[in-house]
Amino acid sequence: MFNKILIANRGEIACRVIRTAHRLGIATVAVYSDADRDALHVHIADEAIHIGAAPARESYLLADNILAAALATHADAVHPGYGFLSENAAFARACAEQGVVFIGPPAAAIEAMGSKSAAKRIMGEAGVPLVPGYHGDDQDPAVLRQAADEMGYPVLLKATAGGGGKGMRQVWSADEFEAALAAAKREAVAGFGDDTMLVEKYLTRPRHVELQVFCDNHGNGVYLAERDCSVQRRHQKVIEEAPAPGMTEALRQEMGEAAVTAARAIDYRGAGTVEFLLDEDGSFYFMEMNTRLQVEHPVTEMITGQDLVHWQLQVASGEPLPLAQDEVQIHGHAFEARVYAEDPDNDFLPATGTLGFLQPPEESQYVRVDTGVRQGDEISVYYDPMIAKLIVWDESRERALQRLASALAEYRIGGTVTNLDFLYNLATSRPFTEAELDTGFIERHSELIF
Ligand code: ADP
Repeated sequence: MFNKILIANRGEIACRVIRTAHRLGIATVAVYSDADRDALHVHIADEAIHIGAAPARESYLLADNILAAALATHADAVHPGYGFLSENAAFARACAEQGVVFIGPPAAAIEAMGSKSAAKRIMGEAGVPLVPGYHGDDQDPAVLRQAADEMGYPVLLKATAGGGGKGMRQVWSADEFEAALAAAKREAVAGFGDDTMLVEKYLTRPRHVELQVFCDNHGNGVYLAERDCSVQRRHQKVIEEAPAPGMTEALRQEMGEAAVTAARAIDYRGAGTVEFLLDEDGSFYFMEMNTRLQVEHPVTEMITGQDLVHWQLQVASGEPLPLAQDEVQIHGHAFEARVYAEDPDNDFLPATGTLGFLQPPEESQYVRVDTGVRQGDEISVYYDPMIAKLIVWDESRERALQRLASALAEYRIGGTVTNLDFLYNLATSRPFTEAELDTGFIERHSELIF
């Protein structure tokens, strides 16, 4: 196992990784920008290195500075967290070249999943089910249009280089096609400098169900059940849960095996997530693979009793996976609500402010709060305005939902607007308690916002 790791991140995920490392007796190095001199992750790490100015592109995205910090502090390995450099193949490669272990998959696996169309080709060849669609190289508008006509409307146009829901357009009929293609291409050029498009059948009421997978260097691969992340606003997840309501053991196994097949197809190592769209009839389709630890990994930890960061450290240091597939057990039900400084009355615009008062609900075996801020800290314009992830667990979905509602009601945050009331409305609403879930949930229930 490693003696010392550097965490190339900030906020709650940096704190979360540091805690597991310390529990295992591994020394930690934090990195920080000008804005984070006094941040929680800096305080709890054994050492801290300043890496640049407040904007992320001048600090947390500077691969060279971070690698230099790892070398200067003699860290054996770098944990990238999520976001920032976590899915940057060049960074993973640079770490390996300098003899620092990148706690994540090989650079080639990151690259393979970087383009949506290349990823689909690889997965199609491996026999993983795909949404019917066109992901070819011929980008002639007439060819794209013909593909759409043949699969039948509605279709979804997607930028192959896209992310965060950008460069995507629904097309409901043939006469809208031309204008929608032009709009999606404009957004893709502006956002990613690449307007290559793929065309997919648009599923009208799918659920977003993703499988947690892990692979080691000894040929083992397992899945750790699923998460339902259907409750999204503009493709951003709001509340996640595990297991997915209504999931059967047979479907879990089928999706889990498809997810492990997907991981094996790119010679994967470490923690990964395979995202599927699950249709009303029980068919599921590969959407993408995220080659990092996800924000919502704690709900999986709560129902499996495993520490996924510990697993990541074990795999990265060359140890075999701690459990075989038939030893993975799930128990109870977990939710995660993302508590944000944002203004529901103003289109959820990110908010800033000093957290003059901060009183999270009390933690217990049922309630967990993953955060990177303390009372008095500032939510700045520079980074994602997440305040905390509130995670709850109980024996059943119903009881876990009651825990979620009381924990949200107990949460007190002063000094900035937050989405706490919106989360509470969601968690206590009839359609959510009855698990009427699909990716259109929030759009359909906009009454919960006000
Ligand atoms: P991004 O990388 O931009 O997040 P994804 O391909 O992961 O894009 O899709 C984002 C979201 O868009 C999904 O979570 C899902 O809600 C919706 N979506 C994607 N593909 C389809 C589809 N074929 N039909 C219906 N909804 C889709």
